Amino acid sequence: MIIVMRKGHSVDELTGVVKFLETLGLRAHISEGEEKTIIGAVGDERLIERDKLLDLNGVETAIPILKPYKLASREFKPESTIIGLNGTKIGNGRVVVMAGPCAVESYDQVLETAISAKQAGAKVLRGGAFKPRSSPYSFQGLGRAGLEILARVRDQVGLPIVTECLSQDDVAIVSEHADIIQIGARNMQNFAMLEKVGKQPRPVLLKRGMMSTVEELLMSAEYILANGNYNVILCERGIRTFDTMTRNTSDIAAVPLLKSLTHLPVIVDPSHATGDRKLVPPLSLAAIAAGADGLIVEIHPTPDTAMCDGHQSLNLPQFSALMDQVRAIAQVVGKTL
Ligand code: PEP
Ligand code: MN
Repeated sequence: MIIVMRKGHSVDELTGVVKFLETLGLRAHISEGEEKTIIGAVGDERLIERDKLLDLNGVETAIPILKPYKLASREFKPESTIIGLNGTKIGNGRVVVMAGPCAVESYDQVLETAISAKQAGAKVLRGGAFKPRSSPYSFQGLGRAGLEILARVRDQVGLPIVTECLSQDDVAIVSEHADIIQIGARNMQNFAMLEKVGKQPRPVLLKRGMMSTVEELLMSAEYILANGNYNVILCERGIRTFDTMTRNTSDIAAVPLLKSLTHLPVIVDPSHATGDRKLVPPLSLAAIAAGADGLIVEIHPTPDTAMCDGHQSLNLPQFSALMDQVRAIAQVVGKTL
C-alpha cells in the first residue's frame, strides 16, 4: 500500500503514520518527492484498517499497489531515482557509459583500459574479478587480487568501479572495494544475495536474468530496495531465445517499458546482448535512442588475447569512436554525456 501525505504535513504526523504501520508489523519506506511525501507500507497489507489509517493526521490518501513490486514502482516514487557516485550521477537524464574488460587480467591491462576509457568519456570502469563461467575449467577471474587491482586503478585514474559479486560470502569484500556491486544475470534470482546487497551501502547494478521476465527483474530489484538499499540500477543484457545467431536476443523494448514501470535507472549491456563486437555499436545507439540511462560495454586493449569475451570486446580506438556516435545520438534525444 502507498500512503500519500498531505502537502505541508508535519514531522510528527509522518512519524505517527510510520509508528502506526510498525505497530502492525509492517515496514515503512519513505519517499520525499518535490511535490509529495509518499510512504510505502511493506508487509501484510491485510492488517491495515484503511479507515483508521485515513483518520491519522496528515494522511491524504492510501492506495493499494496491486503489483508484486512496490518500492520499485513509479506509483511509489514518481520521480526518477538519481544515483550519485562522487560527482557522477546515474539516472539524472544524462547518458553514463561504463566500460572495461570482461575480466581483470593484470594491473597493466586494467590501467591502460581505464586511462583510455576515461579519455573517451566513460564515467565508470567495469571489470570482473570473480567471473561466472559456464565451464569450471575456464578462467574464473583473479578473485581478491582482481579487486585490489581495480581499487588501485580507481585511485590512480579516478574512475569509480563496478564489479560482480558471485557469492554471498563475498558481499562484504566486494562492497569494501567496489563503488557499484554487480549482480550478474545468473544470480538475478539469488534472493539470499539480493537481501545481503540490500543491507550494504554500495549501489547495485542488477542484470536481467537470461530467462527472466521484466516483472521478475523488478521483483528482484524489490528484494534489494525492501532491505533498505534504494540505489539500484537495472541492466538489460539480452535474453535467451530460439535464435542462435546472436549470443542473446536484445530486448530493446524492455528499456522504455522499464522506464515507465520503475523510477530506477536503466542501462543496456550491448556486449553480452550480442556476443559480437561488430553488433555492439549499433545496439549501443539503439539503447540510447530507446531512452536508456547508460551503457556497460566490454573493451580490451587487445581483444584477441582476452581471457574472457574477447569476441564481443571493442578495442580502445573502437570504443572511442563509439563514444563519438553515442554523443551524437544522445543529443538527438535531448541528452548529453
Ligand atoms: C559480465 O558482465 O561480465 C557478465 C558475466 O554479464 P552477465 O551476468 O550479464 O552474463
Ligand atoms: Mn563478459
